[in-house]
Amino acid sequence: RDLDIANPARTRAIMHTYGLQVKKSLGQNFLTDQNVLHNIVATADIGANDNVIEIGPGIGALTEYLARAAHHVLAFEIDERLLPILDETLADYDNVTVVNQDILKADLAAMISEHLDNERPLKLVANLPYYITTPILMNLLAGDVAFENIVVMMQKEVADRLAAEPGTKAYGALTIAVQYRMAAEMAMVVPRTVFVPAPNVDSAIVKLTALPPRTHVPFDEAAFFKVVKAGFAHRRKNLWNNLQSLFGKQPDTKTAIQQALEIAAIDPKIRAERLTVDEFITLTDACHQADL
Ligand code: SAM
Repeated sequence: RDLDIANPARTRAIMHTYGLQVKKSLGQNFLTDQNVLHNIVATADIGANDNVIEIGPGIGALTEYLARAAHHVLAFEIDERLLPILDETLADYDNVTVVNQDILKADLAAMISEHLDNERPLKLVANLPYYITTPILMNLLAGDVAFENIVVMMQKEVADRLAAEPGTKAYGALTIAVQYRMAAEMAMVVPRTVFVPAPNVDSAIVKLTALPPRTHVPFDEAAFFKVVKAGFAHRRKNLWNNLQSLFGKQPDTKTAIQQALEIAAIDPKIRAERLTVDEFITLTDACHQADL
């Protein structure tokens, strides 16, 4: 596989041939390690029957590995300079569609029904542009497209937050937003040296797997996320104080908060980082019951 796009010499040669200067502002760090690519494809469990969405194909390093394993790959690339390059680097694969679109603005559902057949399992795989890791994840989770799994490379510090357990420093509103819908596991830590150019941080691959539908759901999802956000607003304050910042400090409100915590059987003095997703759901419903 010496001709893989993903090796440092070939990557530099492609960049040289096309006079491509990477744009740091677009998070362009190209993968050059076949072992890491192999691991990504294995973690996502890509098979010949799968359709795959890729975000940010770059010069095609990961796309090529996906194309070899999958039925079809639909890739979204914001940088139009990369399209003629991808045309050539991926010329051997007839199962790749690259569209020149910003993933944060794309109508994913419409693009999928236009380019992919709906019968097959759908997965999402990406070496993400790190400057927009969180908004991309939030859109994917809140969106109307159901992925069987999502395998994404991101900065290690964010990966730690996604896969965090209650009671740890990394556990926060982002953890809960993700783990409310998907099971998150850290698949592999990746050193910065396998990218050209090398980013300033280490990276990690996270696997998110769709959970079976929850049996315990909040009365209102927006209210749930509001309570979660407020719970972590001041990390050093306890739940009692953070809930007062959300609902108010009037005597009636304080009584209602106290009542809600009693209904939920949650100690007012603990911090939000101790609460599981289920406890946040219970707390949200208890706040509603206490007329907050
Ligand atoms: N997949 C390639 C690889 O692994 O070598 C490149 C990954 S690089 C970290 C991120 C890619 O995302 C770049 O190609 C960049 O141009 C692209 N990108 C940045 N912002 C984007 C956006 N909003 N929508 C789609 N692609 C974007």
